[in-house]
Amino acid sequence: MSESTKYVFVTGGVTSSLGKGIISASLAKLLQARGYNTTIQKLDPYINIDPGTLNPYEHGECFVTDDGAETDLDLGHYERFTNVPTSQANNVTTGRIYQSVIEKERRGDYLGKTVQVIPHITDEIKERIQAVAKNGEFDLVITEIGGTVGDIESLPYVEAVRQMLWEYPSDCIVVHLTLVPFLSAAGELKTKPTQHSVKQLLELGVQPDVLCCRTEHELDLTLRKKIAKFCNVSVDAVIEARDADSIYDVPLLMQAEELDTVVLQKLNLSSKQSPNLENWKSFLKRIKNPKHRVQIGLIGKYVELKDAYKSISEAFIHAGVSNETQVELSWIHSESLNSENISSELSALDGILVAPGFGARGIDGKIEAVRFARENNIPFLGICLGMQIAVIEFARNVLGHSDAHSTEMDEKTSAAVISLMEEQKRISNFGGTMRLGAYRCQLTDNSKTAMAYQKNTISERHRHRYEFNNQFLSEFEEKGMIASGKNPETGLVEVMEIPSHQWFVGVQFHPEYKSTVDSPHPLFVAFVQAALKNTKNNSYGS
Ligand code: GLN
Repeated sequence: MSESTKYVFVTGGVTSSLGKGIISASLAKLLQARGYNTTIQKLDPYINIDPGTLNPYEHGECFVTDDGAETDLDLGHYERFTNVPTSQANNVTTGRIYQSVIEKERRGDYLGKTVQVIPHITDEIKERIQAVAKNGEFDLVITEIGGTVGDIESLPYVEAVRQMLWEYPSDCIVVHLTLVPFLSAAGELKTKPTQHSVKQLLELGVQPDVLCCRTEHELDLTLRKKIAKFCNVSVDAVIEARDADSIYDVPLLMQAEELDTVVLQKLNLSSKQSPNLENWKSFLKRIKNPKHRVQIGLIGKYVELKDAYKSISEAFIHAGVSNETQVELSWIHSESLNSENISSELSALDGILVAPGFGARGIDGKIEAVRFARENNIPFLGICLGMQIAVIEFARNVLGHSDAHSTEMDEKTSAAVISLMEEQKRISNFGGTMRLGAYRCQLTDNSKTAMAYQKNTISERHRHRYEFNNQFLSEFEEKGMIASGKNPETGLVEVMEIPSHQWFVGVQFHPEYKSTVDSPHPLFVAFVQAALKNTKNNSYGS
C-alpha cells in the first residue's frame, strides 16, 4: 500500500437507490477542487464478470471506458463530475474477484492451502482496492460498495473494509449513506432506520465515521444530535443529503454541509486550498437560466427505463448548457412508430436521435424515424446502431436495395450494408468480445463532424460487433452519403453524413461516454445548435 494514499469507503444502508454514486462523485469533485488527486471505484456484488452481458432493463446503461471495460453506469457519473477518465480497475464485480481467485488456485499459487472467502477472496478485494491508487498516483481513492449493508452478497466487501480499517486505521474512513424517512402520519422524520442500519454495520465490525442522511426535509440540530448519539459519530459528521432538483446540485449541497471538510479532518489531511468550483457554479447557473428551448426525440427500445440511456441524456444537459438551451427530451419507443403515424409522432421535434441497441426489436420504427429526419431536413444524430440504421435506410430508400439490412437482423439480406468483420465471425463467447474502447478516427476536412470537433483526428469509445460494409461505400458516396470519419489503421467507417442535409450525422462510436460538465461533447453541442437553428419557436417562455 502506498504511504500517501487515503481511502474513503462509501456504504449504503436501509434501501437501495439512495444515490451512493452521486454522493461519491460529489465528494470526489469537492476533494478534487481542494487540490487532491482523487479517483472513484465501484465494487459490485453480483456474479457477472461485468455488466456487458446484462440486459439494460436489469442494470441500465453499460458504460465503456477508454481501455474497453464494460462497466457500471456510476462510472459515467464519476467521469462527468471529475472529468478524469476511469479504467477497468475502477469497477470490480464478485464474478471478477472469484474468477481471478479460481485462476490462481488452478495455477497452484495458493500452495495447497484450502481456498476460502477469508482470507483469499477478501485479500483479492483488498488488492483491487489498492491497485486503483496506482502506487500513489492518486492521493485519495473513494470506493463505493454496491448493494445495501446486510445483503449476503456484499458481506465479503464489508469484511474487506473492516480489515483495511484495522490494518491502516489512519488512512481509511467509512461514509455510510442512509435514509431518514418522513412519516406523514406522524408528521416527523424518523431516525430508527438509520440507527438499525448502523447497528448492522457494527455487527460486521465496521464503525462508520460519517453519515450522509438522505431526507426529504431539513435535518435539524436535535435530530442530528440524536443520530450522532445513537450511532457513535460526531454531530458535524451527520450530513444532511436533501433531495435535489438536479444531480449537479449535489456537490454544492455537500459543500454547504461541509462533507469534504469532515472527510479531510477524519483522514488528518489539511484543506490544502479553498475549493475552486467556479466552473461548476457557472454551469449550474446556466442550467437554471436557459435562454432557449429545443425538443429532441430520443428513439430507442428501452425508453421505459431512462437509465438505459443515462450518458446520452446527461450529454444533452451538458450540450444544452453550452448553447444556453434547455433540451427537452421526448422519449419515443421505436416499436410504437410506423409509416402511418411517423409524421404525427415526430413533426414537433427540432432534432432526432436514434439510440444504440442490439437485436431486431423495434428496428422498423427506427428506420421510419431516420427516413423522416432525412426527408424533412431535421437535424439527426445516429449513435452506433443509430448510425447503422441510417445506413440501412439510405441503402433501401435512396440506393434502391429494398431488403438492405445488417446481418445482425437478417443474415440472408441481398445487400449486407452492415456486417460482421472476419475476426468477429470466429467469436463464440459473448462477454467482453465486441470492438470495445477507444479507437482513433480521421475526419474529412470541412465535414459537419470535423467542424463540430474543430480538429481532424479524434479518439472515441466503441461498443459493437457489426461494421459498415466498405464494399458499398462508393455507391453511398455517389448518392450523397459520405464516410466523413475512418479508422486510420483499419479503414473501418466510423462516421457517415449527408452533406446536403442541414445536419445529418451517424457515428459508429459512442460520443456520449466522453461528455462531462467541464467538457461537453462537441458532437452533442453541434447537434443541439443545429436543432436550435431548426426550431421555429425557440425562445424560452414564449
Ligand atoms: N448491435 C450493433 C452492433 O453490435 C450496435 C451496437 C450498439 O449500438 N452499441 O454492432
